[in-house]
Amino acid sequence: MARVLLTGGAGYIASHTAVVLLERGHEVILLDDFSNAERDVPARLERLTGHNLPVIEADIRDSEAVSAALAAQPVAAVIHFAALKAVGESEADPLRYYDMNIIGTIRLLEAMQAGGVARIVFSSSATVYGQPDSSPIPEHAPTRVQNIYGRTKLVMEDLISDLARTGKLRAAANLRYFNPVGAHPSAMIGETPRGVPNNLMPYLTQVATGRRPCLNVFGTDYATPDGTGVRDYIHVMDLAEAHALALEHILAHDVALTVNLGTGIGISVLEMVQAFERATGRAIPLNISPRRPGDVASYYANPAMAERIFGWKARLNIEDMCRDAWRWEAAKAGINDV
Ligand code: UDP
Repeated sequence: MARVLLTGGAGYIASHTAVVLLERGHEVILLDDFSNAERDVPARLERLTGHNLPVIEADIRDSEAVSAALAAQPVAAVIHFAALKAVGESEADPLRYYDMNIIGTIRLLEAMQAGGVARIVFSSSATVYGQPDSSPIPEHAPTRVQNIYGRTKLVMEDLISDLARTGKLRAAANLRYFNPVGAHPSAMIGETPRGVPNNLMPYLTQVATGRRPCLNVFGTDYATPDGTGVRDYIHVMDLAEAHALALEHILAHDVALTVNLGTGIGISVLEMVQAFERATGRAIPLNISPRRPGDVASYYANPAMAERIFGWKARLNIEDMCRDAWRWEAAKAGINDV
């Protein structure tokens, strides 16, 4: 059992990971600046898990604060989630993204080195593959970043891999997520996008609550079975479990890994809508719209490496994802007939 620091610990994927880590007997410390996370997430986590969760309010670029935290409570590893993550925003303000994501990671790695913490799990993204030649996408596929956000994730991976290669880190796992969706089945934690959601699932759940009139389907003329875009959606609880297994692997072995986390199953926009309607009993009005610029027709993982190395495989299906995403959104909207 290990004590672990989660940067960006109050965020969407980190908060679900914290639940799984606590269930598996680990000790969790959250570090967050609350610039893009709800203030009440730590309290919700405490209610949900019954565990006390130390919270450090700090920016990862604040080396002094991070060093002080590591000195006060030494940890076996860091799981690094803290980052800016909006593609459009990254293109509008590249320096802000370089500063927070890349400089922030350098500052964090410095603080870890000063504190003798030599193991890290990193929250990366399948966005580093850009426009893939084909799917399923294996880890050795070429990386072709398409935007500043993707660039920062790839540079962050490279920094971590370089430190591992040169012996400055003993173990590292770069985890490339496909499309995380869903929420904890308790509906006590979930995703809270600010403003109009860009992603399919949060938009879909807001249509279901009546907050938005209809779902815009971005393109029905792709070379996919029903013409709509295909993605690899993964339940956030499966993703959280993968983090716990990756952590346990890098605590036990001195390795540097880059691993896809997806189900390996491609789901189209229309299949997602149908699954959502089945799982929730709510009808979703559709508005067929033009393609969204920059979108790829089909994008899904080859997840074999995660199974081989961590013994991990996604267990929850598309209806589980829809049901839990809906429970969370409905709870926030005060809808009780779920
Ligand atoms: N999509 C859609 N309507 C929306 C949001 C997304 O039709 O309001 C489609 C999008 O074109 C893509 C899929 O849903 O084919 C997943 O989009 P998302 O933004 O969630 O993930 P990403 O494209 O970043 O993988």
